Amino acid sequence: MKRLLLVGGGQTHVLVLRALAQHTLDVELTLVTPSPSLPYSGMLPGWVAGHYTLDELLIELAPLARAAGARVVSGSLRSLDLDQRTAVTDQGQVLHFDIVSIATGAVIDVDAIDGAREHTLPLRPLAAFVSGWQNILQRAAAATGTFRLTVIGGGAGGIELALAAAFRLRTIPLPMQVQLVTGGAPLMPGHGARARALIREALLQSGVQIFDTTARSVESKVIHLDDGRTLPTDVILLVTGASAAHWPRAAGLAVDQRGFIEVNAHLQSTSHPFVSAAGDAAALTIAPRPKSGVYAVRAAAPLATNLKAALNGQALTTFAPQQRALYLLSTGGKHAIASWGHWATAGRWVWRWKDRIDRDYIAKLRLTKT
Ligand SMILES: Cc1cc2nc3c(=O)[nH]c(=O)nc-3n(C[C@H](O)[C@H](O)[C@H](O)COP(=O)(O)OP(=O)(O)OC[C@H]3O[C@@H](n4cnc5c(N)ncnc54)[C@H](O)[C@@H]3O)c2cc1C
Repeated sequence: MKRLLLVGGGQTHVLVLRALAQHTLDVELTLVTPSPSLPYSGMLPGWVAGHYTLDELLIELAPLARAAGARVVSGSLRSLDLDQRTAVTDQGQVLHFDIVSIATGAVIDVDAIDGAREHTLPLRPLAAFVSGWQNILQRAAAATGTFRLTVIGGGAGGIELALAAAFRLRTIPLPMQVQLVTGGAPLMPGHGARARALIREALLQSGVQIFDTTARSVESKVIHLDDGRTLPTDVILLVTGASAAHWPRAAGLAVDQRGFIEVNAHLQSTSHPFVSAAGDAAALTIAPRPKSGVYAVRAAAPLATNLKAALNGQALTTFAPQQRALYLLSTGGKHAIASWGHWATAGRWVWRWKDRIDRDYIAKLRLTKT
């Protein structure tokens, strides 16, 4: 019997599991995941803001794996031997495969800023962020003076989190200040001028202080900025964008300049056809796209189809991602901005729209636990 190994239980692979559950497969299927559940990133800012309970955004992996006939191995993949077709987890477990699918997302590079590894809470892995944020709320509630929270990162993720944190911390009856260090680049690069203007307005209205510069180094209570200023802070959230894990390159897979796994239109590694990759971990050579859940979700169906076809020695299908994606960005309260190409609009109705899409998405992935 052939062995198919799925690495990573994120947005891509939850949908792959759901698709594989629709068919009877004569395959030994294994999912390796560090966490038994996936916090849905689209609803994470809403949870930080206090609009959702944790339970509302968690996708349990075991029921999805069971429905697809997969066994779940708890752990993080550390290395791949592409000659022997084996993978080793951080728990030392050796997993054999004929075909491996990698959808391990992106990581935050905690070594890019001096001191960040010790003194910041990185947004990824999301499971660790979730418990870290709960600790921050406790610290904020126990603070005796002004509580200062700084977000490092001026992309969509950093801004959504800064706005969500500002909204949530306002519920604490103490002075608080949320600060955003943008990295010096324009806010939300990749979005149109109108969306960027709307987001800047939202930040100003929320009282988030913007520092259009780079963080050079951080200590436990202070950030040293590139322009020479020092920023006092109680906690720091690190949201500096998508970086690649080191192990795909170390394994000998073809990777792009940033270290993401290069794949062809069939979502196969350009160097090793028995390796597939999709979502944030992959770099689609025929049509590069930003790291975004929209493309990860869109890749899941062709990935599942191609994994089945590869196992059966059949012809593979082609993945053609859409040109551009709709982004719905929450702004703290129950209000959001819609951004699509150069078009953008905002309002409470956008939040309701986003809320409905997110809840429907989660509902599709909720299977009973038995
Ligand atoms: C706060 C936030 C809000 C976002 N909002 C949006 C949005 O509104 N719209 C949008 O399009 N995108 C959004 N994104 C981006 C979106 O979450 C990602 O693009 C998407 O999740 C990528 O899916 P993926 O399957 O590639 O990886 P992920 O969903 O990140 O999943 C990867 C999984 O692999 C696991 N993993 C990592 N390393 C290993 C390893 N070595 N071994 C085993 N498992 C491993 C991780 O723990 C994780 O569970 C947001 C991201 C964040 C952080």
